Order: sequence, then C-alpha cells, then structure tokens
Amino acid sequence: MLDVASKAFFQTLSYSQTLKTLASRYGMSGPRAFARRFIAGETVEDAIEAVRQIQSHGLLSTLDYLGESVSSLAEAETATREYLRLIEAVDRAGIERNLSLKLTQLGLDVDRAICVDNLRKILTAAEQCGFFVRIDMESSAYTSATLDIFETVWKLGHRNAGVVLQSCLHRTEQDFERVNALGARIRLVKGAYREPKSVAYQLKSDVDAAYLKLTRRLLTEGVYPAIATHDEDVLDAVKRFAAERAISPDAYEFQMLYGIRRDLQHAFRDAGYRMRVYVPFGREWFPYFMRRLGERPANVAFVLRSLFKEG
Ligand SMILES: Cc1cc2nc3c(=O)[nH]c(=O)nc-3n(C[C@H](O)[C@H](O)[C@H](O)COP(=O)(O)OP(=O)(O)OC[C@H]3O[C@@H](n4cnc5c(N)ncnc54)[C@H](O)[C@@H]3O)c2cc1C
Repeated sequence: MLDVASKAFFQTLSYSQTLKTLASRYGMSGPRAFARRFIAGETVEDAIEAVRQIQSHGLLSTLDYLGESVSSLAEAETATREYLRLIEAVDRAGIERNLSLKLTQLGLDVDRAICVDNLRKILTAAEQCGFFVRIDMESSAYTSATLDIFETVWKLGHRNAGVVLQSCLHRTEQDFERVNALGARIRLVKGAYREPKSVAYQLKSDVDAAYLKLTRRLLTEGVYPAIATHDEDVLDAVKRFAAERAISPDAYEFQMLYGIRRDLQHAFRDAGYRMRVYVPFGREWFPYFMRRLGERPANVAFVLRSLFKEG
C-alpha cells in the first residue's frame, strides 16, 4: 500500500508549477546536479554522448525525448519535429537506432487523427534509417487508445514498432493476447502510474505475481520480448525459467532505466544477457523525474543530499 500512496503523492507533486520551476533551476545546472542521475541531459548532444558511454560498456540503449500530455497541436508538431531531428542526429552519429516515445506527446489529448499522422511521420523516417520505435504506455486512461493506435499503424505496415504492457492492470493478459496475435514485440513493465483499484492491483505482491506470470507467457509465446524491471527476485525467476526451457538469451532482452541499478545492468551484461538502457533526455524531464522519486522515496534523500552538497 505504501507503494500506491507514494506513487500518488509524487504524481500529485508532479503537477506543481512551483516545484517544477525550482527543480528546473537546480536539477540540471552543473554536471553533478541531482536530475542528471536519472536524465541524460537536456540536449540531443547530451543524449548521444550518454548513448556512446552506454554502448562503450557493452549495453544496448533506447532514446526517449522527454515530453507528455501536450495540450496544443503546435506542441505536438514541435515534439514530432524534434523526433525527426533526433533520427537524423542519431543516424549521423552512428549510434544505436532505437527510440521510445509517448502518444500524448504527439497530441493524443488534442486530436487523435493528428497524433496518428505524427506517429506515422516518425515511424516512416525511422524505418528509412533502420530504427526500432517503442510506444511507451501511459496511465490507464490511455491504454485502449494506445493499443488501438498501435494496431492501426501496425496494420498499415509499420512493423518497426513495438508497444508496452503494464502488469499492474487487470486487463493486461487480454491485451497481451491481442498484441501477440499481431506478432508485435512487447515490453513488459510493472506500471509507473497511480491507478484506481477498479482497473489495477493495489498490492505490490499482486503486481509482482502478475508480472512473473506474464513474463512466462512472453518468453514462451512472445516475439523478442523485453523484460523491463530492476526487481532482482523477478529477474532471477526469469533467468531460471528461461534456462529450464532452454530459451536462448538472444531470444529476449532485459531493460532498465538510465541511472538505476547500474550494478545489475553490468552484471547481466557480464553474464551474457542482452541489457538495454532507457535513456531519457530533454527539457521536459520533471514528470519523468517525479515518477522515479515516487518509485523509491529513498531517492528524495539522494536529491536533498545533492542540493546540500552544492550549496
Ligand atoms: C526500460 C523501461 C521502460 C519503462 N517504460 C514504461 C512505460 O512505458 N510505462 C510505464 O508505466 N512504466 C514504464 N517503466 C517503469 C516501470 O513501470 C516501473 O515503474 C519501474 O521500472 C520500477 O519498477 P520495477 O519493475 O523496477 O520494480 P520495483 O518493485 O518497483 O523495484 C524493484 C527494485 O528496483 C529498484 N528501483 C526501482 N525503481 C527505482 C527508482 N526509481 N530508483 C532507484 N531504484 C529503483 C529498487 O532497488 C527496487 O527495490 C519502464 C521501466 C523500464 C525499466
């Protein structure tokens, strides 16, 4: 229950303009600023440098240009242009071609048809340069729309895309069957948003149990699944299950977030597993950052310590 309360508290704080202004002032100023632990920087150049570092450690990466819940078509168009610019920059830099994005960043709340157009522009440009694009999953208010749009673009021939499912939601097993029937790639996460009990498990033990159950189905029935978690118990169980069934470590990948459990990221790489790091960057880092604090309130102590050290 603490988990749900903490997510709720930090999600509420993430709407605070005052906190956002304060965080923007101190969070990224200087190489040791507190937000840099979880966010690669504010510019494309920062992001490319972070990916180079990650690749030099033998890890895979996916780049996320941060932004969500835009409320105007102009903002959605700007985000789309930024993604197109990012594709060109990554192409020039010769780093790994893998992106993650959110549909509310492309205008889902404003005009669904334009959101689909924006997504298709990105997928088309990405396809031409050999990118894979993961559509992140947002709160349960967007699950159906995200999956419908995903299915639409998939059926239009955009096969360089995959989607995310969250084990916290009661509906996810059915969604798994729907996405799997398309033959599309799934990233499985526990879910980062505060959700009501009408749609989601409220106990961490239930979310974890659902996660484990779904990973087993993904590993045996899915298409190159991504197991995205830092939970060591789950990770051990996945490794054991894959070994028992003789599932090759090339048939799936693990994924973790930038700055979180780097020790585990390296240990998995050393053991011969594929490990992808999710690298977020951009000026709109505040909501993402607050979700990371909500997952682990001990991170607040880390932020406070950094602030006092700087002061
Ligand atoms: C690659 C990737 C992509 C994701 N994409 C999405 C998405 O599209 N939609 C979505 O809803 N969610 C997404 N998430 C977030 C996910 O839903 C969880 O909120 C997040 O991964 C924390 O849960 P956990 O699975 O690590 O397990 P937990 O049980 O929450 O944590 C297990 C352990 O991991 C460590 N840990 C977890 N979070 C943190 C943190 N913030 N700081 C420090 N240590 C931590 C701690 O050691 C903790 O004990 C993504 C996560 C990853 C790794």
